[in-house]
Amino acid sequence: MHIRISLQSQLHLHALHRRPIMKANSQALKNRSSHDTEREFGGTLGALCIPIFLPLTVLFLISVSRSPEASVLQLPPPLPSTEQLWDPLALVLLLGWIALHALLYVMPLGKVSEGLVLRDGTRLKYPINGFHSLCISGVLLMLLVGLGAPLGCLFELLVPLAVCAIAVSFLFSVYLYIRSFWVPSHALALGGNTGNPLYDFFIGRELNPRIAKFDLKYFCELRPGLIGWVVINLGMLMKEVELRGSPSLAMMLVNSFQLLYVADALWNEEAVLTTMDIVHDGFGFMLVFGDLAWVPFTYGLQAAFLVVHPQALSSLGAATIITLNGIGYYVFRKSNSQKNQFRRDPTHPSVARLETIATATGKRLLVSGWWGLVRHPNYFGDLLMALAWSLPCGFSHILPYFYVIYFTVLLIHREARDERQCRAKYGLAWDTYCRRVPYRIFPYIY
Ligand code: NDP
Repeated sequence: MHIRISLQSQLHLHALHRRPIMKANSQALKNRSSHDTEREFGGTLGALCIPIFLPLTVLFLISVSRSPEASVLQLPPPLPSTEQLWDPLALVLLLGWIALHALLYVMPLGKVSEGLVLRDGTRLKYPINGFHSLCISGVLLMLLVGLGAPLGCLFELLVPLAVCAIAVSFLFSVYLYIRSFWVPSHALALGGNTGNPLYDFFIGRELNPRIAKFDLKYFCELRPGLIGWVVINLGMLMKEVELRGSPSLAMMLVNSFQLLYVADALWNEEAVLTTMDIVHDGFGFMLVFGDLAWVPFTYGLQAAFLVVHPQALSSLGAATIITLNGIGYYVFRKSNSQKNQFRRDPTHPSVARLETIATATGKRLLVSGWWGLVRHPNYFGDLLMALAWSLPCGFSHILPYFYVIYFTVLLIHREARDERQCRAKYGLAWDTYCRRVPYRIFPYIY
């Protein structure tokens, strides 16, 4: 999805800023496998520091969320001991989970869709069966729980599982980096072929690495990590049941909200085929780590926090939070669907009457409906939901608000990158749109 980490990269199109030369440049873009693209995320220094800093952040956040103080400023921080870092069961579970999803991926379920046209003029085929995988995983888990499997042990295994996911991310990224030297130049991502090994390893060289028809990037994007996130949440809920006899209202809200988010992403899986992750970004450490470690182990910190820090929630409080999540989801889904529908078929009755402005590319921009309220209504809805996920954890700690804070920074940064790209693509028409719709994400604020 588009559900992921800030670490998502984006093609910078500064070179295309001047409209008259746009066509010639885009032809050049199609043919080149560049060594001259602008480097992102701090270039080589970022590529050196981020793979060290972010895995440590994951371990730190999990450890803090389970400590009695749960304070991110606690000194010394509650770092896990060496014995707590490694458990062979965690590796077996992680590899088994990835294998299960690989199996579900290749099962002939759901339809097959084509991605966008690649630089060599071909289009790749992708199975749209992520939602089936979620449902089958759900049924299998229910069976396991029914048979008495102690799902609550995921709470104890969280740190070793995260360690294994980080290790697998590194090893997998090395494999991806090495294999990228055997593919033709048109199969490389434009931004990931700088010739600097550290940076290319981090940002990703190959655009669509595949083993036969199995697309590694598309597989990792929405399946093992994203579905793993809701399974970890369920494990936290079961731990609460073990400790206190029944799940708390706060825990049930966090579980339900995040399950809805993941189910929505998988229900709309096809939309991922046009995201920058799939279309532009190479598959390297940045995306691998984001998909397999960052998302499952940091997006659901609230559930881990609630196991150790139970919160009483009034009915009114719960109703307010449910309403907030509902509004956020409504704005998020409606705005995303409106744009997707408009891009797929602008003559469809649901979008045909919306006001639009023409651009020199032939594509039009919506200036009414959701996209006439702010320039990124989908980000606004997403942020409302993020807030609703943290509120059940009360106001005593900042840690459960990690996701909403991180996500606000991510989306403001992402919006700026998208804005640059759109200005380069649409020139004057984009400026007109910005004048018509002056706010970026938050109505009347930003
Ligand atoms: P968007 O869906 O916001 O798409 C941006 C693109 O939409 C632009 O590049 C442009 O592309 C098109 N566009 C912009 N304005 C208009 C307009 N007025 N009319 C028509 N088209 C327009 O991109 P994202 O991939 O960033 O976000 C998708 C969803 O994923 C969002 O809801 C976001 O919140 C979510 N997300 C979640 C993350 C997570 O970790 N949880 C991480 C990142 C995103 P073009 O004109 O070429 O079609």
